[in-house]
Amino acid sequence: MSTFELYVHIPFCRSKCRYCDFASWAGREGDMDAYADAVLREAAARAKAFPDAEIGTFFLGGGTPSALPPALLERLLGGLRRLFCFSPAAECTTEANPGSLTAAWLDTAVRGGVNRLSLGMQALQPHVLRTLGRTHSFAQVEEAVSLAVRAGLDNLSLDLMFGIPGQSLRDWGDSLDAALSLPVTHLSCYGLIPEDGTPLKALLDAGEMALPEEDEERAMYELALRRTREAGMAQYEVSNFARPGRRCRHNIGYWRQVPYIGLGASAASMLPAGGEIAYTRETNPRTIDAYLRMQPEGPRETERISPAEARFETMMLGLRMTEGVSEEAFLRMHGVPLEQCYGGRLRAQAALGLVEHADGCWRLTRRGMDVQNSVLVALMED
Ligand code: SF4
Repeated sequence: MSTFELYVHIPFCRSKCRYCDFASWAGREGDMDAYADAVLREAAARAKAFPDAEIGTFFLGGGTPSALPPALLERLLGGLRRLFCFSPAAECTTEANPGSLTAAWLDTAVRGGVNRLSLGMQALQPHVLRTLGRTHSFAQVEEAVSLAVRAGLDNLSLDLMFGIPGQSLRDWGDSLDAALSLPVTHLSCYGLIPEDGTPLKALLDAGEMALPEEDEERAMYELALRRTREAGMAQYEVSNFARPGRRCRHNIGYWRQVPYIGLGASAASMLPAGGEIAYTRETNPRTIDAYLRMQPEGPRETERISPAEARFETMMLGLRMTEGVSEEAFLRMHGVPLEQCYGGRLRAQAALGLVEHADGCWRLTRRGMDVQNSVLVALMED
């Protein structure tokens, strides 16, 4: 058997948040049945194409998976389990939004094998949630966490966001404290990136809102590092913090280039290839309509990743993690020593204090994390 990760995208949301450019749409509930059928048809085609695949981690993301009616969730999870061989120790995560989560939905998810929940909290203050266009309150986050605990889930993650217009450092500290006061095992803290085409970006461009200054945003990130550490969580990636043994295995697999199968609108798959190609990345059509028209076997937009590109991805993804890139793992994966590909460039970055070498691994320093992109540009092979 070879280990794969499995991702299923649920592109339905109750309403569209102002900053969101994900493939998700409000008001498309009427397509949910047909969508679940299409995902299961695609799953059947992928399972047939990769009969030796064992699913090590599964992630139901979106969009808002908790927008699905429980009966549909049951059909989807049951179908996936019949089609694929899940490892008995598989980490199975679902995303959910406070406000759309019910006990019946959670019970169905747990019966379907879900053992980890990731909730979008984003902020504590109503004024910050309003700026983001989020439609829930912190009281609903508390309620969702207590429902999850009652459903038997003990691996709970919250997503938080900083660098939001109108959010003060104090607001951010209070959001962190509120999140850490709940029985959660994992936090993801993302800086807001205003994406083109979103209402929030239009408001910023029109001067109706302003982002916090760069120094303020850096102070927010530093505060997240401090508060999570004080609460007993360890940082393991630029934006992710976990209690011992509770890192997200699915995301780690992605950063470590474990092959993955992605099902649903906009989902990508990274699949083993042969010969001159290290692997292929296939991406499904982005919209619900285009996905419903797609044949289960494709065709899909396909990118062929060369060995040199795959090596660079190892650096780009691996350096996001606090453990960095292991020389031994690099050699095992690419058949060529890391020293030969990047040794000189890494030493130049080390001289600038941006990377360091210890225990057979190259990793970013704290300062390197702040200027990650410039480190990566310096590492690019000619
Ligand atoms: S809930 Fe998530 S996916 Fe849906 S609109 Fe908001 S940010 Fe986007």
